Amino acid sequence: MKICGVQGVSVIDYPGRIASVLFLGGCNFRCPFCQNADLVLRQESLPGLDLEEMMQSLEKKKGFVDGVVITGGEPLIHGEALLSLLRRLCEAGLAVKLDTNGYEVELLREALAAGLVDYVAMDVKTSLAGYSKAAGKALDTRRIEQAIRIIMDSGARYEFRTTCVPGIVAESDIREIAALVSGAQRYYLQQFRPSGPMIDAEYEDVRPYDAATLGRFLSLVSPSVQTCGLRGA
Ligand code: SF4
Repeated sequence: MKICGVQGVSVIDYPGRIASVLFLGGCNFRCPFCQNADLVLRQESLPGLDLEEMMQSLEKKKGFVDGVVITGGEPLIHGEALLSLLRRLCEAGLAVKLDTNGYEVELLREALAAGLVDYVAMDVKTSLAGYSKAAGKALDTRRIEQAIRIIMDSGARYEFRTTCVPGIVAESDIREIAALVSGAQRYYLQQFRPSGPMIDAEYEDVRPYDAATLGRFLSLVSPSVQTCGLRGA
């Protein structure tokens, strides 16, 4: 497991907390619109950060920074190494938010059951029928459904979120997502902001949806969830 980057302080990535953000290299998906292509495809080209130095740095910030966001890439591909990091953060008294695509369901279940995660943010990329296109590979979409259920039943705080990429997410997909996450605590639609390099350079030229379309999408989901909103619109 390689820590490829750290953002020392963020006030926007962890609801209700001031957090540091750790970027882990590698991912089990190849979403064509991914804006972290270096983290996903070329992590060996990125400098790695020393875990012990990072833990010391977090200790020094305690009192000011009270949470850590673990993001990627996809953190859950790192198995026991990730669980060990989560335990150390918990022992240090830091709350953890996990950003995930949810596909490694068993590790997700284990981390949540052990109380190692305070807040989960899972990307729901599109409807199940479109998931393989969205993820850039053939998938078992039952694992996406399982991950949603595991998160909703976990007792942790959580959100689901969808980046509205034209060609990946259409109105019919939003209707299906609304059913998939029905009853969820929080759901957010995120504006697609193309900027390279992406995994598939063709997506760098895709024109984002306009605000009216995103507003319509939101109105389709809002009756199904407790809280919802638009980000980046
Ligand atoms: S957008 Fe897709 S490929 Fe990129 S880090 Fe997230 S899950 Fe992995």
